[in-house]
Amino acid sequence: MRLLVVEDDRDLNRQVAAALEGAGYAVDRAFDGEEGWFLGDTEPYDAIVLDIGLPKRDGVAVLESWRKAGRTTPVLILTARDRWSDKVQGFDAGADDYVAKPFHMEEVLARIRALLRRAAGHASSELVAGPVRLDARAGRVTVNGVAVKLTSHEYRLLSYLMHHAGRIVSRSEIVEHLYDQDFDRDSNTIEVFVGRLRKKLGVDVIQTARGLGYVVEPEAEAGGKRRSAR
Ligand code: CA
Repeated sequence: MRLLVVEDDRDLNRQVAAALEGAGYAVDRAFDGEEGWFLGDTEPYDAIVLDIGLPKRDGVAVLESWRKAGRTTPVLILTARDRWSDKVQGFDAGADDYVAKPFHMEEVLARIRALLRRAAGHASSELVAGPVRLDARAGRVTVNGVAVKLTSHEYRLLSYLMHHAGRIVSRSEIVEHLYDQDFDRDSNTIEVFVGRLRKKLGVDVIQTARGLGYVVEPEAEAGGKRRSAR
């Protein structure tokens, strides 16, 4: 999962980006509305943290032009504490959620997790594929209940595939969602990552769709299982 943080307060930008990176996301940063708008308009982010009070172009205007251009990326806005009008304008412009300053970083992380899983159509922060469980809250992966240690890139890759279970994800799409913009990207390394991931998991949950990419099969609906057992 790859995120964008748009915040002109450099310290706050750094803190938010560091917290998100610590939680396993690839993070790009922008410091004014113009740069933020451009990145959000051209890069395929999974979610965006957007400050409302920005130089060059304010957050509401940035959000409005993304939405007008059909960009549906989930956006969490950062608002000043007492500015209720920021929240109203933000939601009207297409924000998905907000956090008022000053905030606890844990709240930003929780709201981002919720936006990401809702965007992917999941109700729970724990994703399941066969014996593999990915707890997005703890950043933990288990296989048959046993914890598996993954590198941040491996975790990001598995998390992306599991969030999009049932859909074939191409290597170029994985590359775009695995690395921040400064990273030297190479889609050939994805095969290596998938190989390592399969080895560490020890089970066959990542299927290769030859020539197309990779897919994790979605978990069957609990209701469906119950019906067939009857
Ligand atoms: Ca600001």
